[in-house]
Amino acid sequence: MKAINKIYVNGEFITPHGTEVIDLISPVTNRKTGEVRLGDEVDTQNAVSAAKEAFKTFSKTTKEERIRYLEKLHSVISGRAKDLTDIMVEEYGGTFQFSSMVTQNMLSDINAMIDTLKAFEFVQAVGSSKVYLQPVGVVGIIIPWNMSNGFIVTKLSTAIAAGCTAVVKPSEMSVQQTEIMAECFHAAGLPKGVINFVNGLGDVVGAEITRNPGISKIAFTGSTAVGKIIAKGAVDSMKRVTLELGGKSPNIILDDANLEEAIPTALLAAYLNSGQACAAGTRLLVPESKLEEVNAIAKAAVANQIKVGDPKDSDTIVGPMVSKKQFERVENYIRIGLEEGATLLTGGEGKPKGLEDGNYVQATIFTNVKNNMRIAQEEIFGPVLVIIPYKNDDDAVAIANDTTYGLHAYIFSGDKERAYRMASRLDAGRICINGLSHDSKAPFGGFKQSGVGREYGIFGLEEYLEPKAILG
Ligand code: NAD
Repeated sequence: MKAINKIYVNGEFITPHGTEVIDLISPVTNRKTGEVRLGDEVDTQNAVSAAKEAFKTFSKTTKEERIRYLEKLHSVISGRAKDLTDIMVEEYGGTFQFSSMVTQNMLSDINAMIDTLKAFEFVQAVGSSKVYLQPVGVVGIIIPWNMSNGFIVTKLSTAIAAGCTAVVKPSEMSVQQTEIMAECFHAAGLPKGVINFVNGLGDVVGAEITRNPGISKIAFTGSTAVGKIIAKGAVDSMKRVTLELGGKSPNIILDDANLEEAIPTALLAAYLNSGQACAAGTRLLVPESKLEEVNAIAKAAVANQIKVGDPKDSDTIVGPMVSKKQFERVENYIRIGLEEGATLLTGGEGKPKGLEDGNYVQATIFTNVKNNMRIAQEEIFGPVLVIIPYKNDDDAVAIANDTTYGLHAYIFSGDKERAYRMASRLDAGRICINGLSHDSKAPFGGFKQSGVGREYGIFGLEEYLEPKAILG
């Protein structure tokens, strides 16, 4: 049995003041694997005090010093890459394929922030004035369970680049991943108090971060519902807020796309992180005239290329859902899809054969879906793809934008120029053309209810800085 009974405050691993203990449960077996002792409001306040104290000197460090910390962090994380990947697989059932990619992305994200910092001017001439870009202060970082350490690295490397200090509250379902990440930050030799990690519940530690006046900014990744609670609470002390929220991303297959290539790739976009990804391409928009052909290719691809199974296996695409609750939620949406009259193309309710012990959902596709159905509008956060037919390009754009979200989109076309023209008409923070890709320097974030603000590169860095103009 594992016992996670420390938090990381002011440069030390300490026993929390909080006494609540919750179980760690394996998503593969649903058996208890250990316990975690959670932090509380007092722990959060102590962490904020440490970060405030550290800010006095860390905010004055030079660009070169911060670059050295980031380089050290990169080297430490590189050395623990295997541990970081393995614990994702073990703790929440992230597939080995996805988890390995996340670990590699963490390293490229740090490198990208080092490059951004090298090129960034903290004093800029604007008009006849000088503008100083000053670190915003102590940042409260609140994180979901679905790619926990990836988000921590993105946000903390930006905070360090800006000269901010931070208190991180990871999800209570990511404490084992966090423990290794806290060890990495400790080994990177940052001054005490610069980075603090407090495990705890959202309505305890998260709520204290939201209201604590010592925190100047909140960087949140999570659901739109919780993002709204945080934004409302943060306004009392006028905290700056960046919110990375949910999505229901469209994937538009244009009529000149090579379907044999595009459709299997589209399934990978839909089933990214077992479907538990904000950026998953879960609405597949296909030309009406090609619907039957797409259905046939998609059904065959699920049967032949989408393995649902043990997340440790290197060829698994869909692992278990993080928890029993998440499993029930996804199953419920499959029932809703059937009730709404969508056609079940493959998958459906119930666990796949031989995987009854874990939180496994069948890789599921509904076809002939109307965009106003709940399964086309609401974020399911599981391996459920909906195929929606469209009449022409204008109709595809209208359907793609007919959502409260606007995080991500995908377009497949034989003509890149045409795909770019369509991209210019979509309301989404990121759009991938003819594949899945990540760019550690390009901005990431949402239109509409997918969020506020951007992460990565210069757009991300500026969110951690307060411009101060000096005139005359
Ligand atoms: P969640 O919103 O339930 O929880 C996120 C974090 O907020 C957790 O640490 C939780 O403990 C905390 N929290 C909960 N209630 C709180 C409160 N009242 N005050 C302060 N903090 C509180 O999300 P989740 O289930 O952990 O993650 C899945 C969601 O995250 C999905 O909606 C997904 O789309 C979204 N997400 C978005 C992005 C993005 O970059 N846009 C990335 C990953 C996940």
